[in-house]
Amino acid sequence: MQPKDATTNEGFKGFTNHACPFLPCHEGVRGEFNCLFCYCPLIAYECPGPYEVFTDKNGVTRKDCSACTLPHNGYRGAWNFIQKWLEKPVVWNGEPQTRYYKQKYKPQKSRSNAKE
Ligand code: SF4
Repeated sequence: MQPKDATTNEGFKGFTNHACPFLPCHEGVRGEFNCLFCYCPLIAYECPGPYEVFTDKNGVTRKDCSACTLPHNGYRGAWNFIQKWLEKPVVWNGEPQTRYYKQKYKPQKSRSNAKE
């Protein structure tokens, strides 16, 4: 196997699964829609994404990443983002997001919420 740093082929950095029935699962993605990190590697770690915190039916505190496009923003962009944040991973402490993160796209409220 060729080391990834020794190739100019960046095909390993992402792909778009056009056959997926959920595509696009997030709106407002910039660049190619990168499906490589469908399950975000940062879910258990500190990250800069705009997650909300909720408690699941088992009482476990989890991130709701519905509003985050960071793992999907382009093949190269998403790849570089994930690599950077995995260089020195810090386990998430279960607290709400405190980092300021400016996302160009603001998700719309769901239809059921919009009527409220
Ligand atoms: S908020 Fe974004 S970067 Fe953070 S864990 Fe969720 S999907 Fe990943």
